[in-house]
Amino acid sequence: MILEISAAIALAGITSSGVLWFRQRNMQRRYAQEIQALHALHAEKLRQNNLDRNRLLDALSDAFLIVDADHRVRFVNAAARDLFNQRELIDRSIEESLLDPRLLQGLLHSIKTGEHVQSRLVLSQQTSPRGDLENRGTNAWHVDAAPLPNPESLRPLTRVLIRDVTTEHQLDQVRKDFVANASHELRTPLAIINGYLENLLEDEILKDTAMAHRFLTIMRKHADRVSRIIEDMLVISRLESGEASALNIEPFRFRSCIDDVLERLESLITNQSATIKINMANPDLILEGDRFYWTQVLFNLIENALKQNPLGKLTVEIGCNVVGNHVCIDVADNGVGIPSADLAHIFRRFYRVEKHHSQQEIKGTGLGLSIVKRAVEAHHGKISVTSKPGIETKFSIAIPHALTS
Ligand code: ATP
Ligand code: MG
Repeated sequence: MILEISAAIALAGITSSGVLWFRQRNMQRRYAQEIQALHALHAEKLRQNNLDRNRLLDALSDAFLIVDADHRVRFVNAAARDLFNQRELIDRSIEESLLDPRLLQGLLHSIKTGEHVQSRLVLSQQTSPRGDLENRGTNAWHVDAAPLPNPESLRPLTRVLIRDVTTEHQLDQVRKDFVANASHELRTPLAIINGYLENLLEDEILKDTAMAHRFLTIMRKHADRVSRIIEDMLVISRLESGEASALNIEPFRFRSCIDDVLERLESLITNQSATIKINMANPDLILEGDRFYWTQVLFNLIENALKQNPLGKLTVEIGCNVVGNHVCIDVADNGVGIPSADLAHIFRRFYRVEKHHSQQEIKGTGLGLSIVKRAVEAHHGKISVTSKPGIETKFSIAIPHALTS
């Protein structure tokens, strides 16, 4: 009996320790599974975070690279991949990756010293990162390199942002050219005025009233030129300001605008014995726009046709007609024309065709067409030009019909 009891106790002991062992093993397995699940969750979160970070960095329009202390590229965003034509950059040295050593300078300095370095570079298209695909001649780049905030345990990393600032650079250049050209254009008449003033200040000349009168007339002519250049530059800057208030839009009869311009140019037309033809299906066509600028547009186009062609039988045709959704205005002449190489440039400020026109004799500053283009664009229109020298040179303007009634 006693034996049976102790056997039963022993059996119970074995069973309970077996149960305990099983429980423990299950618990361990569950813990292991939970830890594994936590690891997986953590890894997934990390992956998601990395994806989010990459997505954010890919959304940057600037090229962004991370470089380690050994000059190896560790990260590139989408803009950087585009910039370097999808070349494989990861793990490659920056010396190999960034083609131009000038692009490297700031970055290398930042890696070496840990300083924040910013620089602006103008590179030729061959050495610019975009290489052959680029056809703007030169590219300007803003390079910004700085160390990344990094826990001390990790190796130092440096980030670099490369921004294409070519457009800003070109605008700067245009502005500088404008100032340089304007000063150049103003200097000549001012020097002439000064020269005559000095002469006038000599007593002898003042006594000769006929001579003094002649000098004053010349001075007035050059002073008029100075004011015209300044006037033109102010018109350009007003139109370029893009302010809606720059235009005073109201309905007007386009034909009356043509008549005003022809009246102002009457002596030139007579001197040149030019024939003027007006082609308007509806002479009462009303345009919604700034009459002041349309007068400037027509004046310059017709004046150009007349003054560029002092010799020979000149016919100038002026047209204004509704074509579909647009009002098309054109001024055509059968004069010397514009060489095809110059056609792309004639709307630039101060640009004058020099080669085959005798520009010494033909007066002008080269601002007229620049004003014409800006005035047309301010009315949401487009202007184009075609030229077959001696046959037809035609300036064509199209403005949306909505602007007219
Ligand atoms: P501004 O108009 O400022 O007095 P400009 O007439 O020389 O000076 P634009 O009106 O801008 O300047 O014209 C630029 C150049 O384009 C002219 O100098 C001329 O060489 C050329 N050009 C323009 N229109 C004609 C045309 N109808 N025929 C031949 N050449 C032209
Ligand atoms: Mg002109």
